[in-house]
Amino acid sequence: MTKYDSKLINKMSSIFSNFDRLADILNQISDGIYITDPDRKILFWNLAAEKITGYRQEKVLGKRCADNILAHTDMAGNELCGKDLCPLHKAMHENQKLGSPLKVKTKHRDGGRVVLEVSFTPLYSLEGGIIGGLEIFRDVSERIELEEQKARFFSSLSHELKTPLANMQGYLELLLAKDAGPLNEVQEEFLKTVYEQEQKLSAIIEDLLEMGHFESTDFSYEKSLLDLSAVLNNVARSFYALALKKGLDFKYDLAPGLTMLGDRERLTQAFNNLLGNAIKYTEKGTIELKADCDRESGEIAVKVSDSGIGIPEDDQKAIFEMFYRVENPGTRSQGGTGVGLYVVDRIIKRHDGRIFLESTHGKGSTFTVYLPGLLNRDK
Ligand code: ADP
Repeated sequence: MTKYDSKLINKMSSIFSNFDRLADILNQISDGIYITDPDRKILFWNLAAEKITGYRQEKVLGKRCADNILAHTDMAGNELCGKDLCPLHKAMHENQKLGSPLKVKTKHRDGGRVVLEVSFTPLYSLEGGIIGGLEIFRDVSERIELEEQKARFFSSLSHELKTPLANMQGYLELLLAKDAGPLNEVQEEFLKTVYEQEQKLSAIIEDLLEMGHFESTDFSYEKSLLDLSAVLNNVARSFYALALKKGLDFKYDLAPGLTMLGDRERLTQAFNNLLGNAIKYTEKGTIELKADCDRESGEIAVKVSDSGIGIPEDDQKAIFEMFYRVENPGTRSQGGTGVGLYVVDRIIKRHDGRIFLESTHGKGSTFTVYLPGLLNRDK
């Protein structure tokens, strides 16, 4: 039950019973706020809404919000104002709640693009019937523009750095294959060292670029209905050969039809990082990938286990921090930057999930990821 100070609230209710007073307060808030009737006709439009959209109160009152006033599209440009798609309509008539604010695009009256973070709430009468809806929106255009600039920068930087490295690698491989003539033992030894160092440098650059790209596009998750079993299957298949090449057993047991709302690319990246680490930090034994869901809550549990070097207890608390690496010879002998688990943690959290680590130094590690699944009642 909501707790409040009843004396104070009783005083406030005399303010709120008078809508003029409430409107005065709403007009001082820097977020755009509007109230509609159940048919989405605009009944109130605050001053910040005027400023953000360029539409003055007298022009919008009595009109439907979808009539070219606040026509929202999602970030990919798909219309959201159709009756079946409108989040405000859904909040009012289907009682659908948003977990976090939705990012949408709209047009300013002068034609410019505005990116908004919006939340919606239905308004009920004392008898419990729906009497309208309220939308709150915040202009995040500048932040999004900055993030898009960063994303463009990382994408061109990525190209500039990777191209020369790929060329170097190609020539080194040709030299080592003796395509450019014979090598004596010392020359071959030196070239092998250069080749190994080049590989390490490439891996570090790859990690740093991944993080830069990740940070700059963290705002844009494209969630859709997703078969996580299929995603995990693909990840498992792509690592199978690598595990076998290292002489490891690779077992996977994935329940079929694990469905959730998620970003396919990001989740693939998260499980790639976990499985990649499991193989990287294991010299003998078994790698396991398991996934199942709780029949009651629909929550999906994915376990990635290995019998590798393990993570000392003292390091476990910090393991998901950016750039954190365990300081021991087992880790040092493998290249890395400490970015992978940070990225995993961020992706899982952006899917309203949780990740846990159990590990015994010298014996192995298990990372368990919990994600909100969609229950299929037909099963
Ligand atoms: P990187 O592997 O590039 O160093 P990660 O962020 O992926 O970065 O991992 C951070 C650190 O956590 C690693 O440096 C390593 O010390 C430890 N680690 C991660 N996964 C495992 C694992 N499966 N077994 C043992 N240590 C691990």
